[in-house]
Amino acid sequence: MQTITDIIQLRSLIAGWRAADHPIAFVPTMGNLHDGHMKLVRTAKHRALKVVVSIFVNPTQFGPHEDFDNYPRTEQQDAQKLVTADVDVLFLPSIDIMYPQRNLISIGINQLNQDYCGKSRPGHFEGMATIVCKLFNIVQPDMAFFGEKDFQQLAIIRQMVSDLNFPLLIYGVPTQREDDGLAMSSRNSYLTPQQRAVAPKLYQTLLTIKHHIVKGEPDFDQLTNQASAELNQAGFFTEYLNIANSDTLQPASPGDNTLIILAAAKLGNTRLIDNLTIHLNSA
Ligand code: AMP
Repeated sequence: MQTITDIIQLRSLIAGWRAADHPIAFVPTMGNLHDGHMKLVRTAKHRALKVVVSIFVNPTQFGPHEDFDNYPRTEQQDAQKLVTADVDVLFLPSIDIMYPQRNLISIGINQLNQDYCGKSRPGHFEGMATIVCKLFNIVQPDMAFFGEKDFQQLAIIRQMVSDLNFPLLIYGVPTQREDDGLAMSSRNSYLTPQQRAVAPKLYQTLLTIKHHIVKGEPDFDQLTNQASAELNQAGFFTEYLNIANSDTLQPASPGDNTLIILAAAKLGNTRLIDNLTIHLNSA
C-alpha cells in the first residue's frame, strides 16, 4: 500500500490506473478504523481492482461545540489494517492540502437535511458534502462506498451524485454491529463502561418498534413517543426518533412500502445514531 498525502502525486498514480482501464473504488473515512469501515473496504475490494481509502477528519463538518479536537486519531493502526486488507492507496491529506484557503465555495443542500441529524447539527451535511465532492474530484473513482449506518448522509450523497452528475456509482453497505447489537462507531470509545452497557438499548429499541410495525401497529407517533420515553428512562437523551419513508426521508405515511426508523440519542456527551429499515408487504 502507498500512503499519499499530496494531490498531484495521487492524481498521477490514478491516471496510470485509468489508462490501464482498472476500475477504481473509493472509501472516504475519518479514520479510527473499525470493522464497520473495514466492511466497506472489503466490499470495495470485491467490486474493483484498485481501492483508495482516505482518512481526513474534516473540520467543516463539525459544529463549534462538537468533538473535532478530541476525535480519535489512530493513523498508524489504521494504516496497518489497510495494509492487511490489501488496499492500494491510503490518501492522508493535511488540512492545508484540503483547504489551502478558507473554503469560499461549498455545497448547498436544499432538501434531505431539514430533519434528523441535519436539524441537530446545523452545517454538518454541507461540510460533509463539500469534502466528499472535493475527494470525488481528486480521486475520480468509478464507485464509492458509504455505510448505511449514516443513512441520511448516504441519501444526501446519492442525491448530490445524481443532481451534480458525478460519473460514479454509490454503494450503501449494511451497518456492522458489535455482538450485542451496538452499531460500530469511532465515537463508541468515548463511552464509560456503564454507558457502554446501556448503549445496545438503542438498537433493541429500533428492533422493538420494527416488531410492532410489522405486526400492524398503525400509530407510529405513539410507538416513537413511548420508545423515546423508555430510552430516556434508561439514561439516554433522545435527540430524535422518527419513522420515515426510506426513499424520501419524509414522515412515513400509509401505503409506504419501505420505512426507516431513524434515531439519535446521547449517553452523557456521546451522541449515538442508528437506524433500521422495514420492508412491508405491498399486498
Ligand atoms: P466515518 O469515519 O465515521 O466518517 O465513516 C466513514 C464511512 O464508514 C461512512 O460511510 C460511514 O457510514 C461508514 N461506517 C461507519 N460506521 C459503520 C458501521 N458500523 N457499519 C458500516 N459502515 C460504517
